Amino acid sequence: MTPLPPGSTIGILGGGQLGRMLAVAAAQLGYRCHIYAPDEASIAADVAAEFTCAQDDDIEALGKFADSCDVITFEFENVPVAPLAAIADRAPLYPPVAALDVAQNRVTEKTFARTHGGTTAPFAEVTDRESLDGAIEEIGATAILKTIRMGYDGKGQARIKPGDDLAVHWDSVGHQPCVAEGFVTFSHEFSVILVRGQDGAIGYWDTPHNIHEDGILAQSLVPAPAEIVAQEQAARALAAKMAEAMDYVGVLTCEFFATADGPVFNEMAPRVHNSGHWTIEGAITSQFENHIRAICGLPLGDTGLAASKVEMTNLISGNADQWQALLSDPANHLHLYGKGESRPGRKMGHVTKLFF
Ligand code: AMP
Repeated sequence: MTPLPPGSTIGILGGGQLGRMLAVAAAQLGYRCHIYAPDEASIAADVAAEFTCAQDDDIEALGKFADSCDVITFEFENVPVAPLAAIADRAPLYPPVAALDVAQNRVTEKTFARTHGGTTAPFAEVTDRESLDGAIEEIGATAILKTIRMGYDGKGQARIKPGDDLAVHWDSVGHQPCVAEGFVTFSHEFSVILVRGQDGAIGYWDTPHNIHEDGILAQSLVPAPAEIVAQEQAARALAAKMAEAMDYVGVLTCEFFATADGPVFNEMAPRVHNSGHWTIEGAITSQFENHIRAICGLPLGDTGLAASKVEMTNLISGNADQWQALLSDPANHLHLYGKGESRPGRKMGHVTKLFF
């Protein structure tokens, strides 16, 4: 493992807030970042050395980008895999493409978790209107229909109750291939956030208790309550097995439901994650810094807590307008992402409060 020297260029596919926070962490370690994103208004590019504005399947632009980078990573899991094959020999890519293959398809992802000993919600694949009937018969009438690909923050999802007209739900997901999931009764939601280095070393951050509102993460709280801590070991063991099976390098996040029967795996994100934003000030080494360290072949930093209690609250749409009031509490660390327009459900920033 030869570490990438400071001054090297890290390519980041995607231009949102995760890319922005990765670029800030990379700059601190002396690296330059080159952002590749299809949107001219990419907030990661505002804090990076270079920016290529091009589509994810533009092989020529991707090739030039790869030639300018010493290593490439991504900040969202829906990067199309096929064009990446064309640049595979131009610069190393971490996490590996195998992780994108798993994370981009909810059926593959849940099957992968089960193969490695995890429990998931009961699920059935839905390819057309008729198979939705069959799926609901199989898994029960209280269910969630999720598009197999491209869903995030509760988008591309329909909640099904007994007696519902299934045709309406099928219309609402745009007749796209879906997975129908049985509704899981859980007491809490939590995530395992781990980092795996090029030498296979794994570090875990404290497990956050994640509170969602309308399918979007609202808060992450550390330390988590006892109900979550009791399930942490089993959840970590599954996440580590999955990481090892993919020969993973970087930060991996796995989301779980804490149920009476133990942790139920929901989904994984092969990247830094919103439920790990608290680590910027709340941990000795943040998820962003450790992701950069891992992909650059540096030793991993300490994932331990830097406070006795940490609360991360997302600033969604208009909530970011309270920035002055938030700054009046000296225990708050405010992060604004520099997104111009506030739309309903849009993550505009977050605030982390530390308690000692
Ligand atoms: P996802 O896009 O899969 O992360 O779903 C967004 C949110 O919807 C989750 O964080 C849960 O709060 C809820 N949810 C998703 N799947 C299920 C399920 N099978 N049972 C109960 N709640 C769920």
